[in-house]
Amino acid sequence: TDITTLLLSRIRDVADYPEPGVMFKDITPLLADPAAFTALTDAFAEIAERTGATKVVGLEARGFILGAPVAVRAGLGFIPVRKAGKLPGATLGQAYDLEYGSAEIEVHAEDLAAGDRVLIVDDVLATGGTAEASIQLIHRAGAQVAGVAVLMELGFLAGRPRLEAALGGAPLESL
Ligand code: 5GP
Repeated sequence: TDITTLLLSRIRDVADYPEPGVMFKDITPLLADPAAFTALTDAFAEIAERTGATKVVGLEARGFILGAPVAVRAGLGFIPVRKAGKLPGATLGQAYDLEYGSAEIEVHAEDLAAGDRVLIVDDVLATGGTAEASIQLIHRAGAQVAGVAVLMELGFLAGRPRLEAALGGAPLESL
């Protein structure tokens, strides 16, 4: 479709970043183009409305850039999910495995409540580890996941099948 062509044309492939053998998808050209950034924001906001989301969660750091305007456009609150140690208040944390070692993400416990339906926003779904941990975090806070919305899904890393169980029927939308 037209929006797919527009968005794809504003994503830059950077070879061997952040390490040899990785082709990094750089979204900064898209952010710098108001037509593309607006089209992306509108598409995510439509997903928020269609899935009945009551809150938008953005995943550090590019999920903050993409998620915040979606929250404003959809008239919803924005909640940051951060890497461990960055949030000042009482947090819930969720650890997850990386290829080498592990990572942990956190959310302010008071930001999510039973009855909330959360749309998770990020730029790229790769292995799905970050999104899976976010879903677990949201469930542990007593809230529901309305869906996961990403700009891009790297299909060869099989994030989608990994998320299937955690999503429990909620949609994974990749533009
Ligand atoms: P995953 O946990 O799915 O393996 O990795 C997803 C996370 O890593 C996302 O937060 C995403 O921002 C980041 N990421 C992984 N690969 C890329 C990439 O090629 N481009 C960008 N922009 N982010 C990436």
